[in-house]
Amino acid sequence: MTEKVGIMGGTFDPIHYGHLLAAEECRRQLRLDCAVFVPTGEPPHKKEKTITSPEDRYAMTLLATAGVREFSVSRTEIDRGRPSHTVDTLEEFLEESASARELFFITGLDALLSIDTWKDYMRLPSLCTLVTATRPGYSVRGVELLPPEIRTALKLIEIPQFAISSTEIRERVREGRSIRFLVPRLVENYIECRGLYRRLSGGPVKERSD
Ligand code: NAP
Repeated sequence: MTEKVGIMGGTFDPIHYGHLLAAEECRRQLRLDCAVFVPTGEPPHKKEKTITSPEDRYAMTLLATAGVREFSVSRTEIDRGRPSHTVDTLEEFLEESASARELFFITGLDALLSIDTWKDYMRLPSLCTLVTATRPGYSVRGVELLPPEIRTALKLIEIPQFAISSTEIRERVREGRSIRFLVPRLVENYIECRGLYRRLSGGPVKERSD
């Protein structure tokens, strides 16, 4: 039987309940067998110094999904050690499995709107169904400008509860405001212990020795 696998691609800086709800809603609506979270390693389109280290983002994603049977986390992009492209990730997921797999690549709409700048993007529809999880009331303008081959491979799924954003969480931490109930408790503790997001650029706050 063909296994239906959701691939949750994102920076996850940090992962929050919106991502978990989006994965679960896509899993239910598309009748997926499982969802694999794939934190980006070295994103080709972002300056590494502005985002938290891959290992911290991976650890938070592991903590957030621990104990959920249908969710897992992949190190594939983190271990690649060079700019990471979705087309390579999807090919790896198809090749590594001995049994038949159907892939659903799930990510945010703003990421997908720049898909025509991604490596070999015209090959993506042959590798997966593209799924974009949208926030309520969020404009889906721009989809009509995507190439027709991409538009026909694209499923838009509105997630009613997906109002949280990683940007907002980073801002809250920086301003000393609570992030309780926006991220899982273990992720909240990890952010606090590692001193993440207390300043504008990525990375933990270094302890002063003086
Ligand atoms: P991102 O900064 O993580 O997210 C962009 C937007 O989408 C944000 O609003 C984000 O919300 C939301 N989002 C992120 N992941 C999501 C998910 N799985 N489900 C629902 N919403 C999600 O995006 P990114 O790092 O640019 O890229 C997203 C994916 O596209 C990654 O897998 C990346 O590797 C891939 N990509 C590939 C290429 C390429 O192959 N050349 C280029 C660009 C992107 P939050 O801020 O709240 O997370």
